[in-house]
Amino acid sequence: MTAPRIAIVGGGIAGASLAWVLAVERGVAPLLLEREAQYGRHATGRSAALYMPSYGPPAVRAATRASGGFYRAPPPGFAAQPLLRARGALHVALRDDDGAATALTALRGQLIAAGCPPCELDADACLAQCPALRPELVLGGLLEAEALDMDVDSILQGFLRGARRAGAELHTDSELLEATRAEGRWRLRTAAATFAADVVVDAAGAWADALGALVGATPIGLQPRRRSAFLFDAPDVPGWRDWPTVIDLAERFYFKPDAGCLLGSPANADPVEPHDVQPEEIDVAGGIWAIEQATTLRIRRPRATWAGLRSFVADGEPVVGFDRRLPGWFWLAGQGGYGIQSAPGLARAAAALLLDDALDAASRDAGLRAAAIAPQRG
Ligand SMILES: Cc1cc2nc3c(=O)[nH]c(=O)nc-3n(C[C@H](O)[C@H](O)[C@H](O)COP(=O)(O)OP(=O)(O)OC[C@H]3O[C@@H](n4cnc5c(N)ncnc54)[C@H](O)[C@@H]3O)c2cc1C
Repeated sequence: MTAPRIAIVGGGIAGASLAWVLAVERGVAPLLLEREAQYGRHATGRSAALYMPSYGPPAVRAATRASGGFYRAPPPGFAAQPLLRARGALHVALRDDDGAATALTALRGQLIAAGCPPCELDADACLAQCPALRPELVLGGLLEAEALDMDVDSILQGFLRGARRAGAELHTDSELLEATRAEGRWRLRTAAATFAADVVVDAAGAWADALGALVGATPIGLQPRRRSAFLFDAPDVPGWRDWPTVIDLAERFYFKPDAGCLLGSPANADPVEPHDVQPEEIDVAGGIWAIEQATTLRIRRPRATWAGLRSFVADGEPVVGFDRRLPGWFWLAGQGGYGIQSAPGLARAAAALLLDDALDAASRDAGLRAAAIAPQRG
């Protein structure tokens, strides 16, 4: 049987990782169309680069587990440096949050249930991890040693380079404008060219439902949510580069060392339409205020600010599989705030569903179930 011609729409981490798995591991080199002049310009290029196996609902955690082996030991030549680095995540309970003690107990239970038992820290131990926290505010915390930093650019470039070498045809400046299906084949039109394909993979990030609407696919109910972030100068104290990611249990902020500075965020999730989102001043001011309240850090002016879209369906799980009603339309969307950490695992699951119509053993062993990520599930 000849392999199907697969066209992937979207050159973020989802599209790039699937192109790599198809071309390199499955020998089915796809076509990939990206609207922008560069790959990864939207959510993928704007993340906080944290790999946290405890984070997210069950299928996300399964896909993240399935991705760990790849990130720890990528194939030879994939990247020049390690893709993961030690970081740790300190979930800190603060006294100005009335629900902190209860939230701490609940999170401890969740982390244990997720197979990521944390280290319990008293206030002094929290301060030893991050001396910038205000001692009078800290109640205690949970340290997740397994939370790591990811090198997102190396990961994305590794997928794209490998896919290209294995025969994938990758195009930037190629927005899919129209897709029509006749006699079992898609005809895809961009401003510059037309392509043919048997299957279209919708990996268009925040635009996935908008793209599906072009062809009458069944909507998945995707909601993009704005999250803002900023970089600021680290204090002049030794050891700050080794601080863990500090996450307020009440989700008012998080901060972590990044790119020679500290990266902060108000951890917001504001519903918006898909667009090239920019940071709202009020988000950034709110994040700065929350970090300054909880720490001795002073943020005069952020060095950079940005925002990105984290896109969710109702149950927060990713959407991977063929559209139930539109033949030849395959979804790879709804990765929320976890799309980088889960990318290799989800891409392998997607490739198996595309080519074999069933999940592969490694995805199943990690706990992934096709029904939990199917479009139009439930
Ligand atoms: C502030 C922030 C922090 C985050 N932190 C983390 C983190 O620590 N860890 C983690 O794992 N995840 C994190 N995430 C989430 C992660 O970034 C996303 O889940 C992931 O990048 C989604 O990848 P994607 O490829 O689906 O989307 P995108 O990267 O948005 O890619 C979709 C692509 O599709 C293209 N496209 C759309 N329509 C068309 C069309 N018609 N034709 C052609 N191309 C089209 C777009 O141009 C875009 O490049 C964070 C996100 C944000 C915003």
